[in-house]
Amino acid sequence: KDYKNDVKPDWCAGCGDFSVLAGINRAVVNLGIKPENVVISAGIGCSGKISGYTRAYGVQGLHGRSLPVAQGIKLANQDLTVFAMGGDGDGYAIGIGHAVHAMKRNVNMTYVVMDNQLYALTKGQMSPKSDEGLITTTTLEGVMEKPLSAMKIALSCEVTFLAQAFTGDMKEMMQIFEEAVNHDGFSLVNVFSPCKTYNYKNTPAWYKEHLTKLSDIEGYDNTNKLEAYRVLEEHNDLVTGVIYKNEKKPHYEDTLRNYKRDEPIAHQNLEFSEELFNSLCDEFR
Ligand code: SF4
Repeated sequence: KDYKNDVKPDWCAGCGDFSVLAGINRAVVNLGIKPENVVISAGIGCSGKISGYTRAYGVQGLHGRSLPVAQGIKLANQDLTVFAMGGDGDGYAIGIGHAVHAMKRNVNMTYVVMDNQLYALTKGQMSPKSDEGLITTTTLEGVMEKPLSAMKIALSCEVTFLAQAFTGDMKEMMQIFEEAVNHDGFSLVNVFSPCKTYNYKNTPAWYKEHLTKLSDIEGYDNTNKLEAYRVLEEHNDLVTGVIYKNEKKPHYEDTLRNYKRDEPIAHQNLEFSEELFNSLCDEFR
């Protein structure tokens, strides 16, 4: 059954975010996961609205803070399938500190960045992913810097599943989402999701012309980190497919068990009493 609820998205006609919503919905349906077992923690931006358009549980929190919320939810109830979602501004500017530590920590969840290479909700300002030369409302003479390579940062942070997708290729995007959810650890999926209204350069046609599928690169080995760096460098990060995966690093939930930490809160028999309430208050005083 479809995951979409009855709320009509108010994204602009032709926005890539519609495809991300459809791709996530279809991927979880294909995986047989029930909406009540899925949580989407979103940031702020056009992309962040996605948490309100499904029958899964949704949280839209502070700008750039979707990851701490998502990790907290997953650690409290490890039976849930947890997504953090947001834009490139949300994730790679204000939220980059959280992303770095989430990748290092390796909680078993999926982070989807809907990358339109600028801030859209606030009317088209430059983001860390904006292309050099792009004219935006904050760079009237064009962006003077090269875009941030979030993919190479992710590799340096020991991410265990790294992929890129394009909203113009629904089949590949869905396969990547499914693989990311099935991965036993933290997955980062950066989706090129064009902004029809503010980004005049990075259009669907532009991506079609510039993106290379990793499946078309003969012999590409996505378990080889050095090869992943090399291909990203060679293609200016403009590749789609699974860039890197590492099945050997233990996820954080196992690490907690090894250190004999408490069971997740959802599995603890918590009887809420005045005494417990007062002891929790004492902890925060
Ligand atoms: Fe999509 Fe851009 Fe419109 Fe936002 S402003 S809904 S990103 S097309």
